Amino acid sequence: MLHCIPSHLHHLAPYQAGKPIDELSRELNIPADKIIKLASNENPLGISPLAREAIEKNLHELSRYPDGFMLKTALAKYFDLPESHFVLGNGSNDVLELIARLFLTPQSSVIYSQYAFAVYALLAKATGARGIEVPADNFAHDLAAMLAAIDQDTRLIFIANPNNPTGTLLGEAALRAFLSQVPADIFVVLDEAYTEYLADADRVDSLALLRDFPNLIITRTFSKAFALAGLRVGFAICTPEVADWINRIRQPFNVNHLAMVAAVASLNDRDFVEQTRALNQKVYQQLSAALMDLGLSFIPSFGNFVTFHCKNAQALNQFFLENGMIVRGLTPYAMPNSLRVSLGLEEENARFIELLSRAPQAFL
Ligand SMILES: *Cc1c(COP(=O)(O)O)cnc(C)c1O
Repeated sequence: MLHCIPSHLHHLAPYQAGKPIDELSRELNIPADKIIKLASNENPLGISPLAREAIEKNLHELSRYPDGFMLKTALAKYFDLPESHFVLGNGSNDVLELIARLFLTPQSSVIYSQYAFAVYALLAKATGARGIEVPADNFAHDLAAMLAAIDQDTRLIFIANPNNPTGTLLGEAALRAFLSQVPADIFVVLDEAYTEYLADADRVDSLALLRDFPNLIITRTFSKAFALAGLRVGFAICTPEVADWINRIRQPFNVNHLAMVAAVASLNDRDFVEQTRALNQKVYQQLSAALMDLGLSFIPSFGNFVTFHCKNAQALNQFFLENGMIVRGLTPYAMPNSLRVSLGLEEENARFIELLSRAPQAFL
């Protein structure tokens, strides 16, 4: 098989997703409704009622090819920016891949941080580009080191803000200073999958950055605070020129009709996102307090998840699974002594804390 496949793909390992509930149910014979999944940073409130209504209303439209016009119009209104600044994706992962395919070849290099979202390294490998992983500074992006890592082949830089799985956040001043030093012909992707969870005081005005730095590409998703992970819809915000280029390599119907009508409805359900953020903050307070009580160290998080450290993450993870609790092991991130737990409903994280307090001390 190997000689049929380009050599730059030989070391590509599959993305490891959070374990699905049904899989654990089959493996350990636990009823699915007794399993709690806090492994993929999904919205525990389920989808917005307005999105549900929009999906039901649109079922009869499914024999037609989808048209992105309505969602782009809604985004244009929401962000007060012309439609030409948006590119739609089948999840923001699709957008990230389109950007990688647009800029990267086996002759180029791409920069991302240690402990940054795993998809960036996967895209480097998939395109054959040389991935430059810059050591993190106390689990956060080290922007000065990322600048210093730029070489003559660099075409793209990925930044996740907040980052997953560490939950770290870069402030606007730091990002602005960084962007002002990146050469104008190197594109910077700012992946803001968790931006809706931020308190207003912490939120970066990335649209203002885009006005000043046309080599910036912002990516957003409907998978997290907007609760549509299962439908797959995300988007880029960038200059019309960049959008035009991304659209040339995009499949014409990459986002399905139900995903788009649900996205429009979710975008307009401001109460739902507010409720999501309020719940997330409450559960974060409870979880961080409980982790401190148990003497476990964790990385302060700006997302809807917390990464904490322990003595034997693999054994602790197994203990959780046997008790019907799915969290995320971080061995793929080279953090073998850490686990990431999503912030779910209050009772879900209370159960997580209860299990943690009953776990063998040797694992903690
Ligand atoms: C969850 C996540 C995404 C979202 O991916 P989708 O394809 O939109 O579901 C993007 N970036 C980061 C850093 C994430 O954690």
